[in-house]
Amino acid sequence: CGIVGYVGAQSALDVVIAGLKRLEYRGYDSAGVAVLADSGLASEKKAGKLANLEKALSERPLPAGTCGIGHTRWATHGGPTDANAHPHLDNAGRVAVVHNGIIENFAALRAELAERGHELASETDTEVVSHLLAENFSACGDLAEAMRQVCRRLDGAFTLVAVHADEPDVVVGARRNSPLVVGRGEGENFLASDVAAFIAHTREAIELGQDQVVELRRDGVTVTNFDGTPADVREFHVDWDASA
Ligand code: GLU
Repeated sequence: CGIVGYVGAQSALDVVIAGLKRLEYRGYDSAGVAVLADSGLASEKKAGKLANLEKALSERPLPAGTCGIGHTRWATHGGPTDANAHPHLDNAGRVAVVHNGIIENFAALRAELAERGHELASETDTEVVSHLLAENFSACGDLAEAMRQVCRRLDGAFTLVAVHADEPDVVVGARRNSPLVVGRGEGENFLASDVAAFIAHTREAIELGQDQVVELRRDGVTVTNFDGTPADVREFHVDWDASA
């Protein structure tokens, strides 16, 4: 339902939680975050309101992180439980993925992953993506390329945002039939399903087009099509009143 991603010098955890609060108006049944810090990937997720997630984080704090992703879920596949909340990880706990939308061919992909020995921990359509990303990353060592390869295998509507512990300065996003916007800052960059998540930080934005992947670093934003070719992007300035 709501997605936020961040890379930069601020506390990624704080930026992501604040961004999720700006998206609460859309409604949701669960919430979660993942951050990358020196210690690796760390995540927390809870059914219920963001207050539940914040309570869990006060009991078991996460590092501030240099990269972070967050999600508010509106369940379509699998009930609103802690296990079905996003982010979803791979079995090694190296990849974290959040997703808006529906992956129509998830059942076939789940069966394929199970055959290769993956253990899926949720009932969601989303979780196939974290496992596929982990496999593809192992082969190519590049999260944006792994995301392009995975997206070419997915049917349906999706905004996906992911991080990998082995590429600690990068957040990757992708979209098909579901919105994703980049917010460009100074030495920091943002990703969100809706500009409301980041307008407290920047109003310089890029709207991702259909079937595009974005690689976000502190000092750069690279957008490609699912086939790897450079993409045409639409830059715009958000000029509506943030307090409205
Ligand atoms: N289909 C996914 C799920 O049920 C994502 C739902 C959403 O857009 O929040 O977990």
